[in-house]
Amino acid sequence: MTMRITYAHMRPAEKVNALWATTRRREGTTVVEVSSLDEASWTGATEAKVGTVSTTLEGVEPLAWVVSPRDALVLAKRGVPGWRITVVDSGVRADIVDALARTQAAFVRTGRTGAGMQAEITALPGISAAVSVFVDDVPDAVEAVASGASDLVLRGWTSSMVGDLRDTLGGTVIERAVYPVGVSVDALRANLPAQHFAAALDLVDAGGAARPKYDWAPGVGGPAPVSPNRFSAQWGDEAWIGDGTVTLADMPPDLQGILARVLDGEAPSRDEVLRLFSARGAEVDVIAQVADTLRRQVKGDVVTFVVNRNINYTNQCYFKCGFCAFSKGPRSLELRGEPYLMTIPQVVERTVEAYERGATEVCLQGGIHPDFDGDFYVALLEAIKHHVPTMHCHGFTPLEVWQGAATLGVPIGDFLARLKAAGLGTLPGTAAEILDDRIREHLCPDKVRTAQWAEVMLTAHGLGLRSTATMMFGHIDDAVSWANHFEVIRTIQRTTGGFTEFVPLPFVHMGAPIYLRGRSRRGPTWDEVVLVHAVARIAFHGMIDNIQASWVKLGLEAGTRLLSAGCNDLGGTLMDETISHAAGASHGTAMTTEEFEEAIVAVGRTPLQRTTLYGEVGDRVS
Ligand code: SF4
Repeated sequence: MTMRITYAHMRPAEKVNALWATTRRREGTTVVEVSSLDEASWTGATEAKVGTVSTTLEGVEPLAWVVSPRDALVLAKRGVPGWRITVVDSGVRADIVDALARTQAAFVRTGRTGAGMQAEITALPGISAAVSVFVDDVPDAVEAVASGASDLVLRGWTSSMVGDLRDTLGGTVIERAVYPVGVSVDALRANLPAQHFAAALDLVDAGGAARPKYDWAPGVGGPAPVSPNRFSAQWGDEAWIGDGTVTLADMPPDLQGILARVLDGEAPSRDEVLRLFSARGAEVDVIAQVADTLRRQVKGDVVTFVVNRNINYTNQCYFKCGFCAFSKGPRSLELRGEPYLMTIPQVVERTVEAYERGATEVCLQGGIHPDFDGDFYVALLEAIKHHVPTMHCHGFTPLEVWQGAATLGVPIGDFLARLKAAGLGTLPGTAAEILDDRIREHLCPDKVRTAQWAEVMLTAHGLGLRSTATMMFGHIDDAVSWANHFEVIRTIQRTTGGFTEFVPLPFVHMGAPIYLRGRSRRGPTWDEVVLVHAVARIAFHGMIDNIQASWVKLGLEAGTRLLSAGCNDLGGTLMDETISHAAGASHGTAMTTEEFEEAIVAVGRTPLQRTTLYGEVGDRVS
């Protein structure tokens, strides 16, 4: 089994203010350790996105404690879960065994000379703690690991020292924040007070490891935070940035096996997809390389895009999806801008304009207006097709279809057949978010569940209506939910073959109510963005040929980086993107054909305008 070592950048402090904590964070610090946390220190550290650990039970509640065996027992009696507790080696073996067994503490903190004895203790049945040791340099760390430590506490280490540590130790080396890697969002939500839950989410990625300290996030401007030699931005040291020569042969045997079989044409199982999603660092690089090879086999060097227009006919909606900054309704928490509702003639006018500007598609999606019934959607299509018969109507989320059918009291199939007869060409695969009801329950509780989304898609495909598949990621989701989502898409596709493309949608957090309420992460990390696109190419190989990178969420520069990680499509020109813009995305509301072509040529690929169904533009599909 590959050795796994975690480490934390931690600094002792007496008091903390935001300026000091921000400076320390820029230097690499993730956690401050204080003896007694006061309100001002909590606020200063939390504002700077630095975690707090307290060494006593005094003061305000920190995120976690590093305390004596006796105090650890007090915390456990108060119901504090073990992953918030580190037991300090008191030198009395019986006390430590007792405290670790009763608290299920995550770590036992000791000095280098104590690591051996603590390793013996943590090997006892019923104890799950890792031995955690403060180390000053790489030889110290090597000695601690050799003695049994599997968690290292670093104070003031530079990125090159950490890089040296990674290369010296080999195996898997992962930075943690306050808690052990792998503590789930569900556990954080169930056990932490609200402001602690928010502070903890700001520190971690989807796997519960420390979030990288770059400011980049989907929707935030600026280039991808990654060296041109690499796909993974996990490390910042010169040795890592300058070297991109990692290959499949450098991978752990389990990953090598999965990827070798994939290259031989064997689809990965759901559990293997989950393994791919837990990749880190160099593993991400190699997964992206394999995805790129598959992309080349299937699509060559051509990169496609569609000239289209987004028409979001209303932003009024009576649903309350936590991630949605677009909707304005009585339950919306973040009212930004005015509610609006376009008339059908206004939608037609926009369609005519789009046609005159060369669009082959209008993308029709909107809020669920309280006055809408299914007839609205039918009338909208009929009006568009009456005025612009050749325009492809890519419209209506499975939620809109479900609600439309429900308001008319007709079966989904009958309603979809009416929409098709009225001119619906294809369905966008949005409203999928994450197709795992464990996540949907907190992300979009009143929206259609996974089964309903699948029901609409299966029915639509059965009627000959093809669709997109999407996944929005980087909020409260995790690798398990991504693997489950992919399995839902693959199951439908095996039955119908109706999906034309898969579009990963990185979560834009800035204006999203769920983030503003402190109940989600800040979007995916760069490595997660690469992984989801690359694993999509791998998991859907032979089933869905088109994997799209969303310039709306990522910007064109970061989007084109993904063209070497499995993607072959950049989506649409959109003309009036409003949904991501409302969430705070800074990448503009439209793209021109020339901008697409220039960006594609700049990365050595061949641009090609396509129709919605990936046909040639001369064959406009109505
Ligand atoms: S995502 Fe759609 S259904 Fe949900 S609140 Fe926003 S507009 Fe309404």
